[in-house]
This record gives sequence, structure tokens and C-alpha cells, in this order.
Amino acid sequence: MNVDRIFLSEAHSSGKELSYLQKALQVKAITSGGSIVRDFEKDLEHYLEDKVYVNATNSGTAAIHLGLMLLGVQSGDEVLCQTMTFSASVNPILYIGATPVFVDSEPSTWNMCPVVLDEAIQDRLSKGKKTKCIVVVDLYGMPYQVEKIRAVPASYSIPLLEDSAEVLGSSYKGMPCGTLGDIGVFSFNGNKIITTSSGGALLLLDKLQKERATFLATQARDAAPYYQHSEIGYNYAMSSIAAAVGRGQLEVLKERIQARRDNHSFYCELFSEAKGITVFSEPSNDFFSNYWLTTILIDKEKTNGLTPEIFRLFLEEFNIEGRHLWKPMHLQPIFEKYPYYVDKMAASLFEIGLCLSRF
Ligand SMILES: *Cc1c(COP(=O)(O)O)cnc(C)c1O
Repeated sequence: MNVDRIFLSEAHSSGKELSYLQKALQVKAITSGGSIVRDFEKDLEHYLEDKVYVNATNSGTAAIHLGLMLLGVQSGDEVLCQTMTFSASVNPILYIGATPVFVDSEPSTWNMCPVVLDEAIQDRLSKGKKTKCIVVVDLYGMPYQVEKIRAVPASYSIPLLEDSAEVLGSSYKGMPCGTLGDIGVFSFNGNKIITTSSGGALLLLDKLQKERATFLATQARDAAPYYQHSEIGYNYAMSSIAAAVGRGQLEVLKERIQARRDNHSFYCELFSEAKGITVFSEPSNDFFSNYWLTTILIDKEKTNGLTPEIFRLFLEEFNIEGRHLWKPMHLQPIFEKYPYYVDKMAASLFEIGLCLSRF
């Protein structure tokens, strides 16, 4: 691989990780859980203005799996999920043996459409299926249409899981993403805005939920002096080495967000005169995006036939990575057999969109 390749979203070292790592090694905390993980959780809680309890996990996917269980999802239940997303929003629904039902996006945020969501809930009800939970995603840094979406499940008393894996640092009307549902989830995978190498977090409103999450994530051990288990457990706790890296990364989160936002501004300027290319941007001042990735839509009627794939291959010639937007879940071979409520929004975004690298 050429070292000069420009990637979509590389992990950075802040230079602050080493002292946290040294501390972790000194206290012989080379395991999962423990005081360094607690410190990282506290740092995150502090960052989120102490509005939620944080439970750190070894991936975002694990956090989604735990979150669904905490919201009571069980085998046979139906979970409505945004179709425009990464597969990790959906796979945990299937780990549980529940059924995903896909919902289309709306054009201003590319996230779940409140109108289609309402139609989907009603149509499922008419078929005798009560939705157990809704998974809404904040894609590419953009918060979802918070008020319009939340009004829908509220009227049916359906809990909302916010897959905020990509949006640490984003907010809606000043409220941080991750706290905009009943349970939120972050990912600290290497490609996200900050990383712990691999890791995630559950953001919970209630202390009992946090205790329950910790219990499930650490093999569901009963309170006994020996190993006794009355429930299925998981090995989902964050490692202290990952937490030490995370503490060092959190220190520079503000700078990272600014860098991503500068990247977005760069592309806005670059394409300001380009006919047929639109840079995906905040729909109003209510939305603050960390612009995890800068994404564009290309109208080939106005660009003399330029398509996302032609543009991607062009960038590839300069060893610059570009990537198509998420291919909607209802079009994925593994998920296409599940019910879906879609018009053409997510499918057309996939057809005409591209994610761009750092400049
Ligand atoms: C990255 C990501 C996840 C999964 O997080 P991991 O830490 O990689 O398990 C889930 N949902 C979305 C939308 C993501 O971008």
C-alpha cells in the first residue's frame, strides 16, 4: 500500500494517549473494566454535561446490542430501523432474533423520515404487529429531525434507540447527539472522529440501566462468591488500554471537530461554482454537525455525465479514497427479505452520493 494514500477517515494520535497508557500499565490495569474505564466514562459524562450515564463497551455494535436488550427487545419482536445506515445498526436486531423493518430517509438530514415512520408503525399495527423499538441513526455527523421523529414514537409509547456512532460532538438545538433518544450509542472504532482503537459506549438516562448494562457486558455473573449465572452474558466491556487511549483522544475532540468542519468548508468553497454538485450541509442553525465525513450529491444531468463512480475512480488515480454512501439495508442481499417502507429517498442518495476524503 502506498503510504501517501489519502484516506476517508484515518485515526490520528493526539500525542496525549501515552501518559494515560503509562498510567494504565503502572497500575497493572491491563484488563477489561476497572478504574481507567470508569475515568473514561466520567470524562464522557462530563463532556455530555452529565445528562446521561455512560457505559463503555468494546465496540459500537456491542453497545447497540446491549441497548436493544435494555429497551426490552426480544426474539420475535419487530424493530423499525433507518434503511440508510451501516449494517451494524441492524445486525444486533438479528442477534436477538428480532425482525428488522426498514424505514426510508428524508432529504434534509438523510436520516429517518417521520412521515414514513408513522405510516410504517400504523401499517405494522394493521397487520397485528406492534413495533417494539425504533433505531434512528445520525449519519455522517448530521443529527436526525429530532422533534418530528420523537413525536411519532411518543404517541405510541415506543422507545427510541439513537445510533449516534458517527456523531460525537454534534448537537441539535444545543442538545448533544447521543442524548436525543431513550438510549444512545457511540463508536470509537478507528475510522470515527476519535478512537479507542476499537470501542463504543452506551448513553443511558437511568442508573439502573447502567448497572444492568455492566452486568450483561461482564458475563452476567450473579452476586455469589463463585461463578454462578442465571442469564446469558456477554463479553462486551471496554478494555482499560482502550479507555486510556480514549482519554487521550477526548482531550483533542474539539480540535478534531474543527478540522472536520474546516474540511467541509473547503469542499463547499471548492464546489461553489460547480454545477450539479451539492455538498451535504446543515439544514438550519438548529443542527450542528461534526461533519465526520463530507459528502456530496452529483446530478449527472448537470455535470455532463459525471457520476459518483466516475468521480471515485478519478480520485483513485491520485491515490485518494472516495466512497459511495451507505447502500440502504433493504437493498442488501442479507436483509432484503425483511419488510420495508421506502419511497426512493435512500436508494437515490446511494445512487448519486459520494463521501470525500480529508483534503
Ligand atoms: C461505526 C458504526 C457502527 C458500529 O460501531 P463499531 O464500533 O464499528 O462496532 C454502528 N453504526 C454506525 C452508523 C456506524 O457508523
